[in-house]
Amino acid sequence: MTQPQPALFIGHGSPMTTISDNPERRAIEALGARLPKPEAVLCVTAHWETSGRTHLTTGPAPRTIHDFRGFPQELYEVTYPAAGSAALEQRIVELLGQDRVRRDPDWGFDHGVWGVLRPLFPEADVPIVAMSLDRTLTPAAHLEAAAQLAQLRHEGVMIVASGNVVHNLALWRQSAGTQPEWAVRFQQRINRAVTTGDLAALADFDAGDGDAAAAVNSAEHYLPLLYAAGARLPEDDVAVFNDTINGALSMTSYVLGNAALLADELVQ
Ligand code: ZN
Repeated sequence: MTQPQPALFIGHGSPMTTISDNPERRAIEALGARLPKPEAVLCVTAHWETSGRTHLTTGPAPRTIHDFRGFPQELYEVTYPAAGSAALEQRIVELLGQDRVRRDPDWGFDHGVWGVLRPLFPEADVPIVAMSLDRTLTPAAHLEAAAQLAQLRHEGVMIVASGNVVHNLALWRQSAGTQPEWAVRFQQRINRAVTTGDLAALADFDAGDGDAAAAVNSAEHYLPLLYAAGARLPEDDVAVFNDTINGALSMTSYVLGNAALLADELVQ
């Protein structure tokens, strides 16, 4: 029997990560080279927020979106010409329900998508459907959607969620180059919850403490994690990698899947 595809959460950080040489990008590249190539990827991105429905990219060739300002020209010239997948769109609609999903011809692959898929699959040879975050959903409802989508992993589809566990741009300037205690505590709390499969703790990430308030000021970078952790299968192992903190930003990433695939990472 073929192994189910893994579910990944990848910390993407600055868009520059994807065009510069750094240990985090190299770790994503190494992981992509080692994993069995999926038939398609469902990519949940922090950079696409919708209200009332979960949106999907659609069509045979969604465009590359450069959804940032003030970066070097080189970054605006990046294209990621992966195909779309009508078959995967259809399966997502079936699993989540027609009334909760909208195919959106106006969106494409934003930098949450191509920032992580470019190092994972440099040839852009895996079809992708990108998925928005419906910000009207509670964390519990995001987890429920993830559990419904987990079936895709048995159908050759890799789930790749793109965001950051610790992400607070309001504190970025003052904290860069340091490892704030609140960031380390929050990251350790979330690492523990992901590795032990404590979904209740992931949903209740706010916990009313100052650590969460500083680490997650607007939640769009945290919420994609719920789609990886919530798509966990009973037989999964969990590996943590790129577990670094730079001020109000962590690059922490997780792979949920068969331990044999995760050899180079820190398997919990
Ligand atoms: Zn981002």
